[in-house]
Amino acid sequence: MSIAHNLGFPRIGVKRELKRALEAYWKGEQDQAALEAVGRELRARHWKLQQEAGLDLIPVGDFTWYDHVLDTSVLLGVVPKRFGDVMGNVDFKTYFRMARGRAPGDKAGSADTYACEMTKWFDTNYHYIVPEFEAQQTFRVASDKLFSELAEARALGLRAKPVLVGPLTYLWLGKTKGAAFDRLTLLDRLLPVYAEILVRLKAEGVEWVQMDEPILALDLPQTWKNAFETAYNRLQASGLKLMLATYFGALGDNTGIACRLPVEGLHIDLVRAPDQLTAVLDQLPAYKILSLGVVDGRNIWRADLERALDTLESAKARLGARLWVAPSCSLLHTPVDLAHETKLDDEFKSWLAFATQKLDEVVVLTRGLNQGRAAVSKELAASRAAAESRKTSRRIHRPEVKQRVKALAANEDKRHAPYAQRRELQHKLLQLPLLPTTTIGSFPQTQAIRNARRDFKAGRISEAEYKERMKQEIALAVKKQEEIGLDVLVHGEAERNDMVEYFGELMQGYAFSENGWVQSYGSRCVKPPIIFGDVARPRPMTVEWSVYAQSLTRKPMKGMLSGPITMLQWSFVRDDQPRSQTALQIALALRDEVLDLEKAGIKVVQIDEPALREGLPLRKADWADYLRWAAHAFRVTAGAVRDDTQIHTHMCYAEFNDIIDSIASLDADVITIETSRSDMELLDAFVNFSYPNEIGPGVYDIHSPRVPARDEIVRLMEKAAKVVPAERLWINPDCGLKTRDWPEVETALGNMVSAARTLRERLQH
Ligand code: GLN
Ligand code: ZN
Repeated sequence: MSIAHNLGFPRIGVKRELKRALEAYWKGEQDQAALEAVGRELRARHWKLQQEAGLDLIPVGDFTWYDHVLDTSVLLGVVPKRFGDVMGNVDFKTYFRMARGRAPGDKAGSADTYACEMTKWFDTNYHYIVPEFEAQQTFRVASDKLFSELAEARALGLRAKPVLVGPLTYLWLGKTKGAAFDRLTLLDRLLPVYAEILVRLKAEGVEWVQMDEPILALDLPQTWKNAFETAYNRLQASGLKLMLATYFGALGDNTGIACRLPVEGLHIDLVRAPDQLTAVLDQLPAYKILSLGVVDGRNIWRADLERALDTLESAKARLGARLWVAPSCSLLHTPVDLAHETKLDDEFKSWLAFATQKLDEVVVLTRGLNQGRAAVSKELAASRAAAESRKTSRRIHRPEVKQRVKALAANEDKRHAPYAQRRELQHKLLQLPLLPTTTIGSFPQTQAIRNARRDFKAGRISEAEYKERMKQEIALAVKKQEEIGLDVLVHGEAERNDMVEYFGELMQGYAFSENGWVQSYGSRCVKPPIIFGDVARPRPMTVEWSVYAQSLTRKPMKGMLSGPITMLQWSFVRDDQPRSQTALQIALALRDEVLDLEKAGIKVVQIDEPALREGLPLRKADWADYLRWAAHAFRVTAGAVRDDTQIHTHMCYAEFNDIIDSIASLDADVITIETSRSDMELLDAFVNFSYPNEIGPGVYDIHSPRVPARDEIVRLMEKAAKVVPAERLWINPDCGLKTRDWPEVETALGNMVSAARTLRERLQH
C-alpha cells in the first residue's frame, strides 16, 4: 500500500493567529506562557486537520515561532557570541534576539545584539535567518523543542514524522564569520550532533525522519556533492528510517548521489521537475521508497488529479508499494484554507486549492492508487470539471489579449533611437543640472493616508472624498520636494497600498483573496495577488494622479509603474501557460499605460523591477532563458515611447556582477540601484562592463532611520564619480521612502540636494 504524507504545514494560522500572538508578546502585552499556548493550539489544530484529512504520516517540527532554519541553529547550539554564552538550552529571549535584535524587555537598540541576517529561502518569498559559523564553531543539542513537540503530537495519538533541515543544506545556508574558512569543514563536528538527535528520536519510538536537503536541486561544488555520502553514511547508524526530501527543482546532476545515499526513502518534486521521474526510477536502488511530490506546494491551483494519477500509476508499475504520495514541497508557501474565502465565487474557488485542500488531494491520489480510480471517481470528476472549465472559461481566456501577444513584432521591444541620441534629446527637453537629484517614488505612508484608505474601503467615505484626500497628500509631497529643491519630482504613491496589489486591482486577469496569507518572515505575511487569466488594462491606472502632480510644478514629474517581472514575481501566477507569456501580457498592458502617461505630458517614466533578480532560476543553466524573456518583457513595456521621453528603472539590490549584461539590455535611460550600504563597491559591476546609460547609485539607506550627512553623500558620490563619468550620474536614495517619517526624509533629502550643489561646484571648477 502506498501512503500519503506531508512535508510541512503553514504555521501562521488561518487567521494569522501566530502573527498576532507574536506581536503581542514582543510588545509586552502578552507573556511567554500566553504565546506558548497559542503555538500549542495551532500545532494541535494543524495536526488534527492533517490526521482527519487521512494522511498516514504527519510532519512534526515544521512549526516554528519565527523560522525553521533559526530553529535548526538553536537545536544545534549555533548561537553567535554576541548573544552571550548560552549554557543550557537556548531560551526564548535569546531566540528572538537572534531573529530580531531584541527580545521583550530589552532596552531599545542595543547595538551589540544586532539581529542575524535574513535572506530568501531558495526561490521563494519566504526569508530564513542565516546561520553564522565561526572557524571554532562547536555544536551541541541546545533545544528541546523538537522533542517536546514530538511528545505533544504523540499524546494526541498521531503517527509523527519529525522534520529536520539536513546537515548539508544547513551548512550551505549559513555564512562564515571572522577569518575566512570553508564551512564544509564543520561537517565532521556537526554530524555527531545530528546522530545524537536521531538516536534520541529513535528512543522515542520514531520510525521515519524527514531530512530536508533541497540543495540537491542546486548546482553544487564537487566537494559538497561528495560530502553527502560521508554525511549519510554516518547518519545511517542511528537505525532510523530517513526520508531525504528534495524540492524546488530537478536533481539533475545530483540524481545519482540522491538515489544512492544510504537512506530508506527519497522525495522528489514532480511539479517543478516532472521530467526527472524516469531518471530517478532508473537509478533508485530496489530497497528504497520513492515519495512523489505531485501536488503543487508553491502555488494555489487545484491539481489535475487524473494527470497526477497517470504519473503515479506509471511509477507504481515499477515501485509497487515502495511509492509514497506527497505535495511537491512543504505547504508553507501556500495559504491555509480556501474555505475561509467568502468573496471569491464558486467557479473561481473550484480552480483553487490552498494547503488544507492540497492535503485532500494527496489523500485522494493515494486512495486512487491503492484502491483504483473507481474508489475516487467523484473526486476525479470534480477535478476534471475544474480543469476543463479553466481551459475554456471566458473569464480566463481573452482572445484579443492572446492575439496581441502573438502579433507583437520582434522589433517592438526596442526604442527608436540608440541611447546616445536619446540622451541629447532628453537633456534638451528636461534641462536638468549635472548630477540631477530624484527619489525612488514613494513618500511616507502617514497615518492620515492609511486612515483614508481604510475609511474608503469600509465605505465610510466616498470615492470623491478619497480622491480629494489623496490629492492633498500628493500636493503636500510636491510642495515639500520643491522646497527641498529636488530636480525630478514624484507624486509620492500615496494612493498605493502596495506596488503590486495597486496595479493588480486595476487589471483584468487578477483576483485577490481575503485570507490568502503566506509567511514572508517571522510574523510578516503577504497576500499575493492571483494572476488567473489573460491580463488586460481596461483603463489608465496612474495617469490621473501623475497629471495632477505635474500640474502643481514646473519641474519634471516622474510617472511611476511596477514592471512586468515584479508584477509576476510577487503574485501567484497561473500555471496553464509559460510565465514568459503572462509576463508579456502584463508588459503590453503597462506599455499602454506608459504611452498614456507620455500623451498626458509626462516626460519621465520609471518602471520598477525590484524583483528581477529574485526571479533567477535556481540552476545557472536556466538563467539565460529567464533573463532573455524578462528583459524582453521590460523592453516591451518601455519601448514604444518617443526618444525624448526618459525611461527610468529601479532595483533595490546591489548584486549585479553576474547579470549586468541583461541589466544593460533593458536599455533604460536611467537605472537607480541600492549602493549606500555597500559603500559604492557594487559599482564595480557597472564599471567593468562599462555600463552605457545613466546610473543613480543610492546614497541614503532607507532601511534605517539614520539620516545621512551632507559630507557623507558628497564622499559617496565622489567615489562613484571616480568610476562612472559624472555626466551619467544621478543622486537618489536606495529605495522608496514609504516606511520612513517626514522629518527624517526632509532632512536626508535636504542633505542630498545640498551635497549635489557642492559636488556640482567642485566638478565644474
Ligand atoms: N517606486 C517604489 C517605491 O518607491 C519602489 C519600491 C521598491 O523598489 N521595492 O516605493
Ligand atoms: Zn527599491
